[in-house]
Amino acid sequence: MRRLNLLYLLPALAILSCSKDSITPDTEEQLIETKELSANVEVAYPQDFGLLSDVYFAGKKITVEEIDGDYVYEGDILLPSNMITSQDVKLVYEIGEEPQEKSVGRTSGRWPNNTVYYSIDNNLSDKNRATDAIKHWESNTSLKFVQRTSQSNYIYFTTGSGCSSYVGMIGGKQNITLAPGCSTGNTIHEIGHAVGLWHEQSRVDRDKHIKINYSNIQSGREHNFKTYADSGSDGDEFTSNLDFGSIMLYSSYSFSSNGQPTIVKLDGSTFNAQRNALSAGDKTGINAMYGGSTGGTTEPTAPEYINGEYYVIYGLTVLRHNDEWWYYSRTYSMWREVELKSNNRWYYAR
Ligand SMILES: [Zn+2]
Repeated sequence: MRRLNLLYLLPALAILSCSKDSITPDTEEQLIETKELSANVEVAYPQDFGLLSDVYFAGKKITVEEIDGDYVYEGDILLPSNMITSQDVKLVYEIGEEPQEKSVGRTSGRWPNNTVYYSIDNNLSDKNRATDAIKHWESNTSLKFVQRTSQSNYIYFTTGSGCSSYVGMIGGKQNITLAPGCSTGNTIHEIGHAVGLWHEQSRVDRDKHIKINYSNIQSGREHNFKTYADSGSDGDEFTSNLDFGSIMLYSSYSFSSNGQPTIVKLDGSTFNAQRNALSAGDKTGINAMYGGSTGGTTEPTAPEYINGEYYVIYGLTVLRHNDEWWYYSRTYSMWREVELKSNNRWYYAR
């Protein structure tokens, strides 16, 4: 699961919440939104379809939607513009090679010392969503959340068109957007992204557990259903099965064009996306990423990297394998071992 590990919202929510007794969708779009609402999944720009473009991010080629200057991936994931390039750029150097002075943005991804700094926009409505979600994270994981004073790297909870977040610590101020309809559960999900989780249905081995019904997906949104393997990060996944209880999983009806399920179990049955709490699997994954056990009072320990998992570290998507780092080089069309040097640049190991 939780590869490095890195959804959506509806203005309709606000309307629906204040007129529960008069929901009579009269257009196809409203029907879709109503379904999306029942699914409780997150969308950054529920009302907009962005321009689709193929870009490079962390050494992978992926399809993103460009909306309002944001690069949106899989519905609610924002990718930092300084880590996006239109052309493949060099992220791994040969031994002895001088790195380019200028490079695409780099991030170590995880929050040092298990400590996440944050600040809440004064104008954000229902701030309890953020503080309650933080309490949930603190009582279930070894992560600590501290109100920012002068730290330069921090999460900023602010209002937006939908629910959205970046994945992992990207460096500097990074927004989690919460439209009025985003729930505490949606906020727990968005914090999941911000501490480094991607979506559960994007696991490389997800086809062993779920089936994607492409014919039911909204036109132009098919790219949201790619696996990391589709994005060029092929490899083994050694961890446990896809977790149908994960708060990071889409629902069966996400991005449906016709009210029919887009994701089903292998036996054809549908499932709900829960947005109440971190699942046992979510907690296990996070504590493996960050060290420590559940319970918030544990002393933070150094993160352990899990063989078979993908991580984005200093701008590169790397696979942990045999306690070494491996990178799939498109230049060489093969996996090569890589090492992170003290200048925080990646080099081929041999
Ligand atoms: Zn999400």
